[in-house]
Amino acid sequence: MTERRLSKAELKRRLQRLSRDYEKVKTRLAEVGFICEGSLAELYTSCGNPNCRCRNPDQRHGPYWQLTWKETGKTVTRRLSAEDAALYREWIANRRQLEAVLEQMRDLSRQAGEYILTTKGRPFHGPQRPRRRRRSAT
Ligand SMILES: [Zn+2]
Repeated sequence: MTERRLSKAELKRRLQRLSRDYEKVKTRLAEVGFICEGSLAELYTSCGNPNCRCRNPDQRHGPYWQLTWKETGKTVTRRLSAEDAALYREWIANRRQLEAVLEQMRDLSRQAGEYILTTKGRPFHGPQRPRRRRRSAT
């Protein structure tokens, strides 16, 4: 961090603020519902029959719901019913919420670590904090 030298009092203030934020973020962990790995895709297909309505791109078959996840390095996909897809959609949204909370905890912890070690005159070691990135809706 290329942070200007901060006074001990300022570091302490910032650390207190970070601790409060951290406690607040942690309460959101308790609110997370069931989670599921992977992602859900809504698919439309054409069957290849030249006389079928699906020749028209707007008239393809579907929607079909497909769950995709990684298992020991391999991509696995399963077709889901619309009813089950609604459940998985909720669980996946919960997992993304959990991941967002964890990312905030990581970020706050990193800042706290920097302040704590700065007051001891030592550098903080660890991966650089990523710049704020917006997750694209998938
Ligand atoms: Zn067709």
